[in-house]
Amino acid sequence: MNQLFFTSNWRVGSTYRICIGIVLSMLSLQACHPHHSGSTSESRTPLINPAISVPAFQADSAYAYVARQVAFGPRIPGTAAHEACGTWLVSLLKNWADTVYVQRTTLTTWNHRQVPCENIIASFNPAARERLLVLAHWDTRPWADEDPNPANRKKTFEGADDGASGVGVLLETARQLHLRKPDIGIDLLFTDVEDYGNDSVAHSFCLGTQYWAQHPHVAGYTADYGILLDMVGGKNAHFYREGQSQQFAGPQQDLFWNLANALGYSDYFRYDQIHVTIEDDHQYVSQMAHIPCFDVIQLRDNPKNPFPPYWHTLADNMDNIDARTLKAVGQTLLQVIYTHPAY
Ligand SMILES: [Zn+2]
Repeated sequence: MNQLFFTSNWRVGSTYRICIGIVLSMLSLQACHPHHSGSTSESRTPLINPAISVPAFQADSAYAYVARQVAFGPRIPGTAAHEACGTWLVSLLKNWADTVYVQRTTLTTWNHRQVPCENIIASFNPAARERLLVLAHWDTRPWADEDPNPANRKKTFEGADDGASGVGVLLETARQLHLRKPDIGIDLLFTDVEDYGNDSVAHSFCLGTQYWAQHPHVAGYTADYGILLDMVGGKNAHFYREGQSQQFAGPQQDLFWNLANALGYSDYFRYDQIHVTIEDDHQYVSQMAHIPCFDVIQLRDNPKNPFPPYWHTLADNMDNIDARTLKAVGQTLLQVIYTHPAY
């Protein structure tokens, strides 16, 4: 992700805050928003339904998947490490998913390079009408261009959080979906060539997702909504509700945050309002594929750089990855998948 800009009209208004305040003050946590069917019924369903068991997300497993990706080396499109990691992802997913689609193409980057792109889609319950799309990018940015040391800015970096963490959560989720089939359809989209962009060139990031949105793996593909995981493994990460996410998929994002808080992950999933809007894959899923999508991404309230200090630097390595953060994100995701409450 990249190309941040700031807005004064981020739509997290007092209504949401009041609603959240009410939620947190009630022991029986309630859904904030009526279902999108438009129901205005006063009858509210509990946010966490104890009658529905949800598998335990195995954070150690997700952590190992992050480490395995990093062990390939930077997954830069066009490199041997990228090719090998793609082969590994497909072979793993074929063990677990009902159908695995591999979408290969060649894309042109902002600096006129032709790079291979491999989007991978793992589908579960492909015939189900109710569907959830969950995505993360698996490529690594080719340069540590935000490194504090100018001598490092043309070097490669591991991308442990920027890329590998979201994929690690998706892989563990795929393993769980194989162990216990959900009753809705799930599509896990591993996007490529997300991080090859240039801040100064519009739409130069998220090239794989832009391609997928224009060439979906199944003709006419759609989903009820999408959840993007990007930088979800950092120690003591804070996840704030980013601006475009609120614009595209506010109720769905609020539901995710409310579930995370109800599960005890309030240290990670924060309601504070920060005026940050970023370009990331969720923008193209929402605007090009017309599937409302929000971003779970580590942010901080820093107007100069809202990303973690190691973002696009040599320090984006396994030292920053914490299994507890992967657990907070992964367990909340499984809660959504297996209980799919109304938003
Ligand atoms: Zn990045």
